[in-house]
Amino acid sequence: MRAIDLENRYSAHNYEPLPVVLARGKGAYLWDTSGRRYVDMMSAYSAASHGHAHPRILDALAAQAGRLAVPSRAYFNDRLGPFLAELCKLTGLDAALPMNTGAEAVETAVKAARRWGYRVKGIARDRAEIIVASGNFHGRTTTVISFSTEPDYRDGFGPFTPGFRAVPFSDLAAIERAITPETAAVLIEPIQGEAGIIVPPAGYLAGLRRICDAHRVLLILDEVQSGLGRTGAWFAFQHEGIRPDGVILGKALGGGVLPVSAFVATREVMDVFTPGSHGSTFGGNPLAAAVGLEALHVIREEGLVERSRDLGAHMLARLSAIDSPALKHVRGRGLWVGAEIDPAVASARAACERLLEKGVLSKETHRTVVRLAPPLVIARDDLDWALDRFADVLRELDGVRRRADAALALA
Ligand code: PMP
Repeated sequence: MRAIDLENRYSAHNYEPLPVVLARGKGAYLWDTSGRRYVDMMSAYSAASHGHAHPRILDALAAQAGRLAVPSRAYFNDRLGPFLAELCKLTGLDAALPMNTGAEAVETAVKAARRWGYRVKGIARDRAEIIVASGNFHGRTTTVISFSTEPDYRDGFGPFTPGFRAVPFSDLAAIERAITPETAAVLIEPIQGEAGIIVPPAGYLAGLRRICDAHRVLLILDEVQSGLGRTGAWFAFQHEGIRPDGVILGKALGGGVLPVSAFVATREVMDVFTPGSHGSTFGGNPLAAAVGLEALHVIREEGLVERSRDLGAHMLARLSAIDSPALKHVRGRGLWVGAEIDPAVASARAACERLLEKGVLSKETHRTVVRLAPPLVIARDDLDWALDRFADVLRELDGVRRRADAALALA
């Protein structure tokens, strides 16, 4: 296949794509170059939460592209203010700093936390620490991988940025023990996405809020993947009725068509930024702002948060009812589930390859977890169809394993 050959020949080999060449998308469907249709059960890691080629988002994109796209932040523009106002209203926070990718917004949060640590909390120069969770995923920049605990993400890329301390996820006592007078912030994903959709116990976020308040430490939540409806709430922090000091958004903020991210925070935190201290050529451009604002409107007006909550509960119930030796565990929230495949039966990659053959696009995370996270616009029938295919794949994998065991017993 020419497209695969070209990519293999001319691309860096930093991905290992499944063998399908996509050419078109609409809603929860994707088509390959031969016209075969697939159900998208991964939505570009939440970037395509609105579904592919959403008509309202395409209209906003085209209209704004023809009007004004990238004039730079050297001037005000008429689209940025309304977009940031909506972000603040939705998060309950005061001010936002727009960037492009998730990793850049994480970097922004790290800078904000450090400066807040020095200028507001009074931490001695260059001593500020940020507590993170083991198994985190916050992006790929050199500073961000400095606090990854995943060897694959770090190997060969040192020296690393100091100032981070990792503690086990879901462990409030470990956070409290790690806090020192030099701790500026706790930076955490409310549900760990790339680690395998790891849901912490109820009360974890509320506990983090309490501990951070008690020690005058900022609570910054990375909702790049969990935010904007994915978990059945606008933001995962709303499940526990807390307000973080800062929240990092990305992926779905770009409506599936552009990279749009933001760090949103309290005024006290955001005011550490002064002219010249931080920025981005593309961050906050009117094209991104118009698309971002429309992306937020579509989520509200199409009831995508409620869809995620209701269809997500349905998906989790259906998966939990599957009794298969290949399926060790399912967990998740909203339309975001990790299905843990028993490595003694098959790899998650093998499961994804079989799903692909049946017309369902998913992606493994690590070696054992199949991610099931369709666009929030998915029709219930399509979701059920994809889940039926997943159950078929589990049966096949069980069968392969049983035949291999029988052959071994005969040998
Ligand atoms: N934070 C989280 C929680 C993520 O899941 C990701 C991407 N998977 C990022 C940050 C980084 O986003 P980007 O790839 O847009 O830099």
